[in-house]
Amino acid sequence: MKRCLSCDHQFEAASWTCPSCNKTPEVVGSFHAFAPQLISTKTAFDDQSFGDLAESEEESFWYVPRNNLIAWTLRKYFPKAKSFYEMGCGTGIVLKGLHDDNPQLQLTGSDIYTNGLDVAKERMGDNVQELFQTDAHGIPFREQFDVVGAFDVIEHIDDDVGAMHELLMTVKPGGGAIFMVPRHMFMWSIFDDLACHKIRYGSRQFQERVKQAGFEIVRTFSFGALTLPLQFWSRKILQRFRKGDKMADYLELKVSPFTGFVLRLLLEIDQIPVRMGVNYPFGATLVVVAKKPD
Ligand SMILES: [Zn+2]
Repeated sequence: MKRCLSCDHQFEAASWTCPSCNKTPEVVGSFHAFAPQLISTKTAFDDQSFGDLAESEEESFWYVPRNNLIAWTLRKYFPKAKSFYEMGCGTGIVLKGLHDDNPQLQLTGSDIYTNGLDVAKERMGDNVQELFQTDAHGIPFREQFDVVGAFDVIEHIDDDVGAMHELLMTVKPGGGAIFMVPRHMFMWSIFDDLACHKIRYGSRQFQERVKQAGFEIVRTFSFGALTLPLQFWSRKILQRFRKGDKMADYLELKVSPFTGFVLRLLLEIDQIPVRMGVNYPFGATLVVVAKKPD
């Protein structure tokens, strides 16, 4: 169901106009904007870098295996899911991966940045139900989706539990959630500063917060365990000697084709034990699969 953010009325309708208080959300560019006051604030990303990012993403040694893992996780733990909502979809790279994996899946995405959504819209065309602008604390849906996801998003939010609770409210009872967050404070580097992360989580710490938000934990595992020593080397040691001012430089997306091939292979091999049930006690990214109680 849709939910009016002005009066909290819940309704089923094609239009976004609230049948109770008659309010209609603003439209910014091609998107309904539920938190338009946040569009111009540049805290999380320098929005100019979205175009660059989109180009690097499609071929990326990082995003391609990451997408494979997300698609596998959804199939494995929520095989009956027909609808999926991604909070903080950015340029739509995950939505694209999920669509390619299962064209039947009904996809919805939101972000606070409309220029990211522009790229997502171009990338997805008609293969997305709706893209809209909002922040993590005001999602205009209630009990609408089978599964929700937030991938490298929660660590940007001060009130992480509140944001995950808001997501819980958008999931149907018995539905699920998949969260990815950066793992281990000892991996903190200039990358985290530039990306405006508030935190890198410990496994138990993050699971506690997911539970506080109202979810039950289904499984916790890692992405990027085998590559962690390389990432440590790149971020903590080499970074001292590196100069660059673009996000993409720091996101380590621009590597030589050979290095990219090797890293991608490692990140795919990394997943084989995960898919067989191994939960590495370390890794670049923590993945939590959770369920909303019936
Ligand atoms: Zn209303």
